Amino acid sequence: MAYKIHKPARTLAVQSYVVEAAKGIAFTAGRFFQNTFASADNKKIATVRYPEETRDYPERFRGVHRLTHRVDGSPRCVACLCCSTACPAQCIHIEPAEYEAGDSRHGYERFPKVFVIDELRCVFCGYCVEACPCDAIRMDTGYHVPASTEREHFIFDKETLMSIPGRDGTFVTGNPRHEPGDPSHPGIDREHGH
Ligand code: SF4
Ligand code: SF4
Repeated sequence: MAYKIHKPARTLAVQSYVVEAAKGIAFTAGRFFQNTFASADNKKIATVRYPEETRDYPERFRGVHRLTHRVDGSPRCVACLCCSTACPAQCIHIEPAEYEAGDSRHGYERFPKVFVIDELRCVFCGYCVEACPCDAIRMDTGYHVPASTEREHFIFDKETLMSIPGRDGTFVTGNPRHEPGDPSHPGIDREHGH
């Protein structure tokens, strides 16, 4: 059976648009006079003077990225490339490197020598955050990309990404991190597999 779409009756009032146009003008004029003459608390302003003013963002708002820190201040990121692989906009560029010999992380983990996100190409889907196995990349900064006419201002390098705190003001996360050498570390070595 064909689905019947309800359509309003085409009366003279609907067809002429006069009533609806008058309603629209009355609404707009009402807002205009209220915003012009009412006291500051009574204005019906639907816009804010961005960027001087911003709205309160919801708690789970996805802002610009940050790279979280370990307790020693180094990046939690192990340069596994999961985030850049998951990114549909292909706007994450990572160059991995090995920790120096003698560092307890040598042979276990890598670190990002280069980590760049093009925030202008990003579509803020959050896939990178979901893909990360280390809670190393987050979008809980509460900031959106600052307005700029300079292209390079949207290219966030590793230092920039590590300099942005979370909304709680910290650079770490509440999730525990099992460092190589800790009793809680699984102790699997990339070269020996045990
Ligand atoms: S939020 Fe989405 S588009 Fe932006 S960097 Fe992450 S995965 Fe890529
Ligand atoms: S941020 Fe996470 S997913 Fe991306 S490379 Fe680093 S550890 Fe891997």
